[in-house]
Amino acid sequence: MIIKDIATASILGCKVHLLNMAEAVQIVEQLVKDGQDGNQVVTLNAEIIYQTKKEIELQRIINSASLVTADGIGTVWAARVLGYPQKERVSGIDLLHEVCAAGATRGWKLYLLGAAPGVAAKAGQKLELSYPGLKVCGSRHGYFSQQDEPKIIAEINSKSPDILLAALGAPKQEYWIDQKRDALKAPVCIGVGGSFDVIAGIKKRAPKLFIMLNLEWLYRLLTEPSRWKRQLALPAFVLAVLKQKYGRTN
Ligand code: UDP
Repeated sequence: MIIKDIATASILGCKVHLLNMAEAVQIVEQLVKDGQDGNQVVTLNAEIIYQTKKEIELQRIINSASLVTADGIGTVWAARVLGYPQKERVSGIDLLHEVCAAGATRGWKLYLLGAAPGVAAKAGQKLELSYPGLKVCGSRHGYFSQQDEPKIIAEINSKSPDILLAALGAPKQEYWIDQKRDALKAPVCIGVGGSFDVIAGIKKRAPKLFIMLNLEWLYRLLTEPSRWKRQLALPAFVLAVLKQKYGRTN
């Protein structure tokens, strides 16, 4: 499977690939196999799509990414409302686990960048235990200054990972990967938001029932009330998508 064969949706001007989890993993496998450095993978949620209305640079980054998946139910809903056959939600943390499972059989090397000091290292240990065969070749926390960046990039490159997982939060990680991808020696760079916190056991993911009912966003709102400001974008996003559907652009 090659990425050029996968159709895309256009939601408020942002590209989203129409695929399921198995296909997303196949694409990542193909990109690693091809070995060309600097492919960006974005797992896109509704808040970030809505943010691109004000940040055209963010839209450019999304549209130039190699793979864009529908991270949240809002993105899946929007694609379907607009008439695209979006198959399923492919969230950052689920993709991370599936990529680790695929990487375990192939001996892939992963570098984990992001989250508070100690968290990426702990998440790395847990991933190596859960997926024997997978190699976490390095990790580093995500609180650094611009001056630190050349050293961080040199450190990542010295480990030549197959995949760089960047957990700096969205859209900071999307900007960062885009800015650094020419300098990074890694075929695939995936932005995975708060995933390391969950894998390291610092934060809990929503219970399965919430995920099944597509209410993971509600769980996050209840457990992290500080997110309410971000989630205010959701009703505005719904409205903007309906305007796109019925022919008005703003
Ligand atoms: N983070 C980081 N560097 C920063 C800001 C944030 O490494 O400068 C990390 C933070 O510690 C957390 C993650 O990025 O682990 C953001 O998590 P959140 O759940 O807010 O991200 P989202 O999934 O909403 O993108």
